[in-house]
Amino acid sequence: MDVVESIADVRRWVRNAKSSGKTVGFIPTMGALHDGHLSLIEAAKRQHAAIVVSIFVNPTQFAPHEDLQRYPRPRERDLELCRNAGAGLVFYPAVETMYPPGSSTFVEVKGLTDRWEGAIRPGHFLGVTTVVNKLFQIVQPNAAYFGQKDYQQQAVIKRMVRDLDMPLEIVTCPTMRDADGLAMSSRNAYLSADQRRAGLCLSRALAEGKKLWHRGTEPQEISQVLQQQIGAEPEVHLDYATVADVDTLEPLESRGMMAVALVACRVGSTRLIDNDLWQS
Ligand code: AMP
Repeated sequence: MDVVESIADVRRWVRNAKSSGKTVGFIPTMGALHDGHLSLIEAAKRQHAAIVVSIFVNPTQFAPHEDLQRYPRPRERDLELCRNAGAGLVFYPAVETMYPPGSSTFVEVKGLTDRWEGAIRPGHFLGVTTVVNKLFQIVQPNAAYFGQKDYQQQAVIKRMVRDLDMPLEIVTCPTMRDADGLAMSSRNAYLSADQRRAGLCLSRALAEGKKLWHRGTEPQEISQVLQQQIGAEPEVHLDYATVADVDTLEPLESRGMMAVALVACRVGSTRLIDNDLWQS
């Protein structure tokens, strides 16, 4: 496995891979890797012979009061996990490589970024779409792999790729969970044992919501149940809970064939998000 920090080195590696007939699968991450990230690498390996992982804690997607400074950066452990998972190249750029002085161009997806994470974290998606666009330009992969865990993010990326005619496929992979049901996240490392238990209210509420969905309950009523359940958990601050259209992410006013339940909360100073897709 190669580890490189410069854009020129990534381009050279990808050019070589493509000229030997390989297609390139790309997994963008912020590191502190867990089995969720590794499942994306596994999925990419099933379709592509050349696997590129980027590890970059992207400052532009953090608001000033957020956890940019304390975000975990276990470099050696991450590289070992990538090596064992079968990555061919890890791109580990410095902030100045991605944002040289004078950087002033941003990519914005309007509308889809207004609600939910976009409302709670103003500017977050502007940072995400800008950095993911840059990474796509640098790596030029045939496909990029994202987790359903960040449902709105993958929806926003798909919209960007469609609207800007980017020549790659976006693949969304299922959410990986710990045995207790908590969706895996690099931020789970911040949680105490008690906070972790409290955070399980998200997956519990989603399971309850799913039962109601299959019983034919109206989406707005399910949203209220999600909000009540999460809101009733001591030590948990509800950010949002909704049953929404899978494409527009607007709250569903009546039942259709499909829905996505999106939930988010804060436990202490740690933000947790989760979601589930429901079919009639
Ligand atoms: P991050 O390092 O948090 O930026 O995440 C990098 C990628 O891994 C994103 O596409 C996430 O959606 C995905 N991811 C994070 N957690 C999980 C999980 N529990 N299951 C599947 N994918 C995940």
